[in-house]
Amino acid sequence: MDLYRRSIQVILQNQADSGAYIASPNFPSYAYCWLRDGSFIAHAMDRVGEYSSARAFFQWVDRTIRCYAWKVDRVLDKLEKGQPLGDSDYLHTRYTLEGEEAASEWWNFQLDGYGTWLWALAEHVTITGDTALLNEVAESVQITVRYLSVLWMLPNYDCWEEHPQYIHPHTLAAIYAGLYATETIDGHLAPTNASGLPNAYVADEIRRFVLEHGVQDGHLVKHISPLGKTASVGGQPAAVVDASLIGVATPYRLSPPDDTVMRATVDRIEADLHCPGGGVHRYLADTYYGGGEWVLLAAWLGWYYTEVGEWERARELLHWVEAQADGDGHLPEQVSTHLLAPDRYAEWEARWGPVAKPLLWSHAMYLILYRALECAGRG
Ligand code: BGC
Repeated sequence: MDLYRRSIQVILQNQADSGAYIASPNFPSYAYCWLRDGSFIAHAMDRVGEYSSARAFFQWVDRTIRCYAWKVDRVLDKLEKGQPLGDSDYLHTRYTLEGEEAASEWWNFQLDGYGTWLWALAEHVTITGDTALLNEVAESVQITVRYLSVLWMLPNYDCWEEHPQYIHPHTLAAIYAGLYATETIDGHLAPTNASGLPNAYVADEIRRFVLEHGVQDGHLVKHISPLGKTASVGGQPAAVVDASLIGVATPYRLSPPDDTVMRATVDRIEADLHCPGGGVHRYLADTYYGGGEWVLLAAWLGWYYTEVGEWERARELLHWVEAQADGDGHLPEQVSTHLLAPDRYAEWEARWGPVAKPLLWSHAMYLILYRALECAGRG
């Protein structure tokens, strides 16, 4: 079976009856459903025509968020009263497949997945015309919007679940896309947020913030210091890139893909993080499993190239991803041939076992790239 059909099968076989997608079935730490991974997986299912799978995921998110709506009420109330917030106040980044908070400790305060689910939901409706789903999930959309439109400027963990002392352009772009998405589907999604302003107004404020504080040396940077706290909290972050910055354009559209700053960002990602003829590292100082080449990032970079018409580069990345599948047609999270920090591999293997495989998000990004090439007649 080719990797395209196998990837669809791997995803469908690993979707729980609840609609949740497990991040990886063979890696105990990933036996949960992340909003971030899940939203991209659902989007991949939409791109390959598996609409009911995507729909079931959005219904799972809806039930999960409604179940924890009380936390959003409480967090907004505390903020209004100027009370301090603690870890237990925030919505979690991952849930059990039944939609419950996991008991084990995790780096839970991450906002990007909440933006990404709104973005993916709006894409689903655009692709399928399923406005009935929008009516069904309207309450959880509203809850998400209230939460994001107030919390977006707080430092939180990035999409790699690290660096909680900073604000991350990738995360802000995901929130931007989510808030914008609620505006673009004529009146079906939440019209206003906690502050009573149109969602697009808040989204534009986020965009201005990223372009004003998140660009150095002509390209986007991995982190932004919370305003006024540079010296006291973690110091000034270096002007480095992170491969997740691709998301600022593709798909979140905070910047157009061919924008000068975006081009310069991708050039830096190419120079610093893309192994020639190989995969893509997350960021130069990565030590997780020694800092390997991430399959989903190679596909993500390829997806970007399809949006700027660089078909050959996109195809090269697709072929590299295909070459990483094992005999069972499984794609890993990362490939360990060119490690950035080889001496840090063993400690992770001892802690959590071999690299996660299959990783559903890797399969999803592969499918998205495959379809982007195919739909453009460049497959
Ligand atoms: C990654 C996250 C991802 C999670 C589950 C983590 O190691 O950094 O981005 O959501 O794994 O796949």
